[in-house]
Amino acid sequence: MSTTDQELPPNYRTVLDVVEAAGPGSHLTAQEIWVRARALQPRIGFATVHRGLIRLHDLGAVMKIDVPGEASAVYEPAASPHAHFRCTVCGAIEDLDYAVPREAVDALRARHGIAIEQETVSFTGRCAACERARA
Ligand SMILES: [Zn+2]
Ligand SMILES: [Zn+2]
Repeated sequence: MSTTDQELPPNYRTVLDVVEAAGPGSHLTAQEIWVRARALQPRIGFATVHRGLIRLHDLGAVMKIDVPGEASAVYEPAASPHAHFRCTVCGAIEDLDYAVPREAVDALRARHGIAIEQETVSFTGRCAACERARA
């Protein structure tokens, strides 16, 4: 695995194991990750899980997604950039195969003089099933 593995405190390692076991597209909240982490490490506290997620996000091992309309962010293993879609009817969260085009990011950087390190793209609307049910 990556070089970050040796530097991780064991509890953070447990958090990473949970996120990686859930797999890409799993979108777990910190609360859900805590429940699963306790199955592996019964004494792990929620604050530890939360700090672990922040650290793993900083290291680039875990992706954090702030979903519009949801109180809690969700987490998934680091993967290629993709956008998220949240259904406002049933609450389903889906991965969308979309990344902001390189040229658009470069143009923003040039125009505003900023360094862009991360992108988060989210859409809301009706999922395919809810759209079908409406028709
Ligand atoms: Zn995702
Ligand atoms: Zn839906």
